[in-house]
Amino acid sequence: MLTLSEYDQQNLVTFLRDLVATPSVSGHEKDVAERVKQEMEKLRFDEVWVDRAGNVIGRIGPGAGSKLLFDAHMDTVDVGDPKTWQHDPFGAEIESGMLYGRGACDMKGALASMVYGAALLKQSGLPLAGDLYVAAVVQEEPCEGCAVRLLIEEEGIRPDWVVLGEPSNLQVSRGHRGRLELCVTVKGRAAHASMPQQGDNAIYNAARLIFALDLLASSLPEDPFLGKGTLAVTQINNTSGSRNAIPDSCTMIIDRRLTLGETETKAVAEVQSAVIREGIRAEICVTEYHMVSYTGLECIVPQRYPAWMLPESHPLVQTVAWAVRQVIGEKPIIGRYNFSTDGAYTMGTAGIPTVGFGPGEETQAHAADEHIRLADCFTAARVYALLAADLLHELESWGARQNR
Ligand SMILES: [Zn+2]
Repeated sequence: MLTLSEYDQQNLVTFLRDLVATPSVSGHEKDVAERVKQEMEKLRFDEVWVDRAGNVIGRIGPGAGSKLLFDAHMDTVDVGDPKTWQHDPFGAEIESGMLYGRGACDMKGALASMVYGAALLKQSGLPLAGDLYVAAVVQEEPCEGCAVRLLIEEEGIRPDWVVLGEPSNLQVSRGHRGRLELCVTVKGRAAHASMPQQGDNAIYNAARLIFALDLLASSLPEDPFLGKGTLAVTQINNTSGSRNAIPDSCTMIIDRRLTLGETETKAVAEVQSAVIREGIRAEICVTEYHMVSYTGLECIVPQRYPAWMLPESHPLVQTVAWAVRQVIGEKPIIGRYNFSTDGAYTMGTAGIPTVGFGPGEETQAHAADEHIRLADCFTAARVYALLAADLLHELESWGARQNR
């Protein structure tokens, strides 16, 4: 049961090729969203709609009971330098069972698998006691969690469980570090550069702070599962009246990865302490992302994404691992993501049990000649269908549970 027919496999490939052939860099997902909606309608989802942000949502189930959310983003990062690609980034070429193109792995492959997994559940006719939602969201790449937040807080879909399709190479991911972006403006005093002693050079003050931050970075805590917190200064800019003026301010951006137990308050306080120790003046704030969706919806989102982790013993982790074992025949590795995902919101902020499972390798994400193995998409679709059946089935006699 819950196996994709030859016909379904062909349709999944056609759908995935269309998704990859349709450019959808963040903020420009309109065309791909239309294609997703069309496929969900063709596959007879019980309800399909597009929300204010442009997310496409498909529902299968009775319209009551528990809710399971499959989350996949439609947007991709840019191609980068096309000369570094051997394959056309939008050609959706298939070679030796691999499909090539921007977004193939991150994460149109998972999106197609989730849509077909849901269709498989629908086709099975299994009576459901709850709903499966497949959400194809916008703008995850620049601002993970912001579109899924709108879905949950404004569309009123409060799921009991979330499954992220981000590439995990068919293994199970149950957490990742958090991310915080800080802007630090170091102050100085302007003067003519011929008399530097008359001023207070903001660049020199910033340099002292940067050395202090480098020292701080080496002493950040390490979590045995999620790894070490990190800190990196990634951009620096200054204001000065001209090249022969002492700059009166210097602004830097800090990329801070938070491990378990680290909070925004802690991370800001650490930078503040470094500022005080160096005897300089500086303002510290969390940066904001200004999102404008293809539907014209605007929102301003602070760049703070908490770390999260779901215990290995959690029933959701165990259900996904069980479904993988049923389909693949071996126990998956239960690990974590290196990158940040929508889980930062769903589990990190909203506290909804969240787990990651997707086809494709993490290292393919954002890379030139990005690709995905088609067989892995078929496998993923079956796993998605099976885990949804197990979480949402109505009948007590759903025998598969007994096999654990
Ligand atoms: Zn992704």
